[in-house]
Amino acid sequence: MKPAVRDWLLRSRPFLVYPAVITGLLVWVGARGQIGLGPTAALWFAGLAFWTLLEWTLHRAMHLPMPWPALSRFQDQAHLRHHREPHDLEHSVVTLSGSIPLALAFFGLALAVLRDLDAALAFQAGLMTGYVWYEFVHLAGHGAWRVPLLRGPVKYHALHHYQDWERGFGVTTPLWDWVFGTLPQPRAAKTFTHPSSSPAS
Ligand SMILES: [Zn+2]
Ligand SMILES: [Zn+2]
Repeated sequence: MKPAVRDWLLRSRPFLVYPAVITGLLVWVGARGQIGLGPTAALWFAGLAFWTLLEWTLHRAMHLPMPWPALSRFQDQAHLRHHREPHDLEHSVVTLSGSIPLALAFFGLALAVLRDLDAALAFQAGLMTGYVWYEFVHLAGHGAWRVPLLRGPVKYHALHHYQDWERGFGVTTPLWDWVFGTLPQPRAAKTFTHPSSSPAS
């Protein structure tokens, strides 16, 4: 396989898998007709909102001191490496071997709480939509893609990378940083550039 194709596949992993799964779940829930369109939409939105909290929590955990060397090594490979190599887009996305078990675990949790398969699937579709959106926003920042609507989130994530790793754990929204008191100071030292992109004007 050509290196360029391999790298594209590595970067695209979440986008090749999750949008199809999300669509499939929503179509399946709709076709079964056990819960109406309104509840399906509400549960999807609840899953999306829950993602933003999960995003903050998982990212926060990646910057906490770990009690065991094995956990520190995991943390390093899963996230801190990304801080050392912010231009390595292939390692900027979560691996499928990491995201799929997590997705299944949260689906199990949703099923246990909601006690309804269709409701849990609609919630899970929202959670995964939030996750895919996170990956897109994150890659847009690190790849220095010019997406006008994402300037705010991209600048915000740059503060986490280049100003203070102990603040700014939200990527798609600053909401939970605001709630938990981890908002970064509003002065950007530097923003993202990527070697393959033309310098930002
Ligand atoms: Zn990042
Ligand atoms: Zn981080």
